[in-house]
Amino acid sequence: MWLLEELEKLKCSKQPAIIHRENSITFEELWNRSELIAEYIEKNCKSDSPILIYGNKETDIVSVMIASLKTGRAYSPVDITYPIERLYKIASITKCEIVFNFSNFSINGNFKVIDQNQIDAICSKEGYESSKNNWVKKDDICYILFTSGSTGEPKGVKISRKNIENFVSWFKDDCKLSESKQVVINQVSYSFDVSDIPLYIYLPMGKTLFNIDKAMLDNTKELFYYLQKSDLSVWISTPAFLEICSFDDKFNSKMLPSLEKFILAGEVLTKKLVRNIKSKFENSVVINGYGPTEGTVLLASCEISEEMMKSEKSLPIGKLLPGAKYEITKEDGTLAKSTEPGELVVVSESISSGYYKNKEQTDKAFFKTEDGKVGYKTGDLVFEENGLLYYVARKDFQIKLNGFRIELDDIASNLNKIPFISSSIVMPVYKEERVGYTLAFVTLSEKTEEPNLKTCIRIKNELRKLIPSYMIPRKIKILDMFPLNTNGKIDRKRLMEEI
Ligand code: AMP
Repeated sequence: MWLLEELEKLKCSKQPAIIHRENSITFEELWNRSELIAEYIEKNCKSDSPILIYGNKETDIVSVMIASLKTGRAYSPVDITYPIERLYKIASITKCEIVFNFSNFSINGNFKVIDQNQIDAICSKEGYESSKNNWVKKDDICYILFTSGSTGEPKGVKISRKNIENFVSWFKDDCKLSESKQVVINQVSYSFDVSDIPLYIYLPMGKTLFNIDKAMLDNTKELFYYLQKSDLSVWISTPAFLEICSFDDKFNSKMLPSLEKFILAGEVLTKKLVRNIKSKFENSVVINGYGPTEGTVLLASCEISEEMMKSEKSLPIGKLLPGAKYEITKEDGTLAKSTEPGELVVVSESISSGYYKNKEQTDKAFFKTEDGKVGYKTGDLVFEENGLLYYVARKDFQIKLNGFRIELDDIASNLNKIPFISSSIVMPVYKEERVGYTLAFVTLSEKTEEPNLKTCIRIKNELRKLIPSYMIPRKIKILDMFPLNTNGKIDRKRLMEEI
């Protein structure tokens, strides 16, 4: 089931492909608009550099993505939660020729900027038929997702058509809905690959994507107004977003009578949340999906059963996808015995070929097997019991906060770019099993008479120019110096005792 081929079969359908607020676009319109945008890209791009998309959940973002794939080029979506500097950084890494700008910000650079009005003008012309010879082929890159990198530089994960097809051919069975069910939530930002589930699985099935945008997330009243109108059949999000919605009493099967499946991915799923959801949506199915971006959306999944809920253990992340080979390795390099935790290392057709133009980081995390397959060291500690994998913790300083993947050192590197900061350390503060917020400890390069509160506000304002808002630490503590442990390293344990 490949997106372009399936959408071609639907190219005359008048069914809505995407609904966003009061607007919608049919499968026919989506196809025709993507053809004309593809023609524009072909005429205006000399190189095969990726197409950058800056926006949120605007309907035509999908037209641009499909258009890029039709020209054989990768797209790279950058969500508006990222500051414009991040976009410029990615533009300079990718040497892109075109940025499709759906935001209200004005963007300038060594590239063409196309806004919604220009897209409408491009799409108002006579029809065009793209040449199938140009469509992305098996080993071509379809998209590049830039994730948080520990050096403070974004790392671009390259995902090929082969990677996506391997993921889709496995996970589509978990996505099955009852015959009459039609509407699928499309909430996850396109900068996060869980959005591939609506895009690469449900859209080609002919289902309608129901977009939830950032403004709705910032305004619960508006969010619930649209949810109420949606008639959703399947929910796809991080556990954190579902939890926020579930706090509201209105969020139940009366409001969403067709909702029969919850696909939750990207961070730890707790029993408390599953229990709550099952009480609000009695016969619903809950799926826990696990995977890093480098493994194309998900590498493992499982449907949460009664038995799992009753067990003493935390919820499993399930079994790896078919064809995947894996090892659980301990710190000394030996294989973990059953139920012993170790790092999950996976070899699969779903594994990316590496980071875009970043050999150093690629060599650190990826490897090739003797028979030429690609493997990835996930950095996740897991254990296996009775054929199921259980997530334990991260090996490094990468965390998940409200579903966003964050390298704590990425925040620290950006803090250190602020001229009046001498050094910094960022730590996660846990709330039950998940990270509740982040806390930064900083030392200043100059003594100041300014009250700490004022300095903290200044730090946050400076940081906002460098990193997305979800990465800004909730609390900042200014210290005269860091406590050190016996090895002379900063004593993180003692730092946490400070709060
Ligand atoms: P990302 O690349 O943003 O998808 O983040 C991948 C990381 O999120 C993984 O390496 C895990 O640390 C974490 N993660 C993803 N799914 C789960 C899950 N179901 N349970 C626990 N952690 C998860």
